[in-house]
Amino acid sequence: MILVLKNEAGEETKKRIRAQLFKMGCIVRELHSAGQNVIGALGREDLDPDTLKALDGVAEIIPIKSKFKLVSRQWHPENSRVKAGPVTIGGQRLVLIAGPCAIESAEQALTIAHEAKRYGATLFRGGAFKPRTSPYSFQGLEEEGLKILAQVRQETGMPVVTEITSPAQADLMLKYVDMVQVGARNMQNFELLKCVGRMGKPVLLKRGLASTIEEWLMSAEYILAEGNDHVVLCERGIRTYEPYTRNTLDLSAIPVLKNLTHLPVVVDPSHATGIREKVAPMARAAVAAGADGLMIEVHHDPANALSDGPQSLYPEQFGQLARDIYVISPVVGKQLDFDYLSASVQQAELTSENGHSAVAAYFGEPGSFSHIACCQYFGTDIETLPQPSFRAIFDAVSQKQAAYGIIPLENTLTGSIHENYDLLLDYDLKITGELYVRIIHNLVAAAGARIEDIRRVLSAHPAIQQCRQFIDRYPNWETIAVNNTTNAVKKIIENGQPGDAAIASREAADIHNLEIVAKGIETNPRNYTRFVIIGRKSNKDALKNKSSIVFSTPNEAGALFEIMKIIAKHQVNMVKLESRPIHGKPWQYMFYADLETDICAKEAEHFLDEISQATDFLKILGTF
Ligand code: PEP
Ligand code: MN
Repeated sequence: MILVLKNEAGEETKKRIRAQLFKMGCIVRELHSAGQNVIGALGREDLDPDTLKALDGVAEIIPIKSKFKLVSRQWHPENSRVKAGPVTIGGQRLVLIAGPCAIESAEQALTIAHEAKRYGATLFRGGAFKPRTSPYSFQGLEEEGLKILAQVRQETGMPVVTEITSPAQADLMLKYVDMVQVGARNMQNFELLKCVGRMGKPVLLKRGLASTIEEWLMSAEYILAEGNDHVVLCERGIRTYEPYTRNTLDLSAIPVLKNLTHLPVVVDPSHATGIREKVAPMARAAVAAGADGLMIEVHHDPANALSDGPQSLYPEQFGQLARDIYVISPVVGKQLDFDYLSASVQQAELTSENGHSAVAAYFGEPGSFSHIACCQYFGTDIETLPQPSFRAIFDAVSQKQAAYGIIPLENTLTGSIHENYDLLLDYDLKITGELYVRIIHNLVAAAGARIEDIRRVLSAHPAIQQCRQFIDRYPNWETIAVNNTTNAVKKIIENGQPGDAAIASREAADIHNLEIVAKGIETNPRNYTRFVIIGRKSNKDALKNKSSIVFSTPNEAGALFEIMKIIAKHQVNMVKLESRPIHGKPWQYMFYADLETDICAKEAEHFLDEISQATDFLKILGTF
């Protein structure tokens, strides 16, 4: 049961009520429900709600209708995020967990781990204790396997996860790994569930071979009831009558779970399908359906794998899948969490602790699209620094008030944001990464507003442009450009005029308790903004496959063509070319180019030399 306290109830009252509940035999929990003064009471479902309501200081009693309590969304309305080492599962970053079914040797594990990490995995998984259907199959290297996992973490920096099959392994698990998996066969091994609950390590709880969603959530409840709320659910297919795949992947479980529980959900298409070719299509579908991550079996030599070879992807196939996921994620409002992101956040957090600077500076306020991009890239737990202008972001990073800045460079409907191109030239900062964010615009107004009453629409100029077709349907509307979408939202609240509306994100509407009068009003749903991350130096550890450069050419016939020839000769794909006037030199231009290569790599030395020689001026804005 959830007890909502009266607004005026202070700490003393709370303490007294907690003591009273405890006396009645309840398990009492602090609830961190958005801004509300609430207490959770478990274990005495027989108590009459009126008895509880009669307690001094209690305003309302909300019974939790489901059998599961602690895992229910009613109990904890916000999405939970579970941390395994530096990696966060849940939230806006999509996590790839990869590795072989079983750890076979240090060489095998390290080979696969390095490859998986290179392609985008952030968590390494491998079995040391294998629950095999046949007692004659390979049972795992046991403690030796755990030692190898610890070595993988040591050498790659990736946190490691492995399956625990018995409470007797708890001490070993605590010693060697970052997260424990409870396998499908053990989903209802209640002693094991209680054990991992007490261990306190994050738990990856797989769905049982033939379990209902409710049974699965009750198993998670066992772990939370022991005080461990770091639980991630893993859908891995259920047994049906269909023999063409090993199991039947229940993708509909994802939206069902998202509604019932706050726990993150990952999908394991490897054990679900059991067939290599079926893994990538189901993985892509899982992301589209809202999964928080994927668990994929990867092996460099699957033909000789000691278990689950036929369903293991070759590392390059895993890389190809990661590329697909990178493209799909922004459609559903997420970004793929690459290893270097966690590393760069960690690094920035360290600087932040030591040097009192924030991790990232962005334009606008919470709910602005720059803020959404910032959360998608860095996660939501970091310290951010809102800025009133793009130049202020460059200043904040240059002056070490923030480790990174995030700036929009171009939009698929409205083109380049020229001011930022010019600032990139002016400041001595490096582009260290990029991300594409889907921009969904909404018409937002005060609660109860009707579209026919709207007279004025406020927003940032690009947002107005991106919604032009929708706005043109209402010829009597006046559009007013302000400097960003969150400012528009604040202005309509300040003005308090019933005819005012703003174009902004759903997040901005939620933050300011406004209503969405019309959603998805951008002219074309393929409305993406490309943001780049700027920092004081480039990211050494990142996998780099792109470079941004800016150059000017001699003022003579064929000068730009010369540069294009060099790019073509080296077979480099140029993905963008943009010209900007040079300030103070009328009719002369700077060219900004994005190239699909790491121009600072040793192999690109000649290429870079030739480009330098053919240009008057050349600046590398970043490789990422
Ligand atoms: C595994 O993850 O290696 C495994 C055995 O999976 P499941 O428990 O889902 O069968
Ligand atoms: Mn397996």
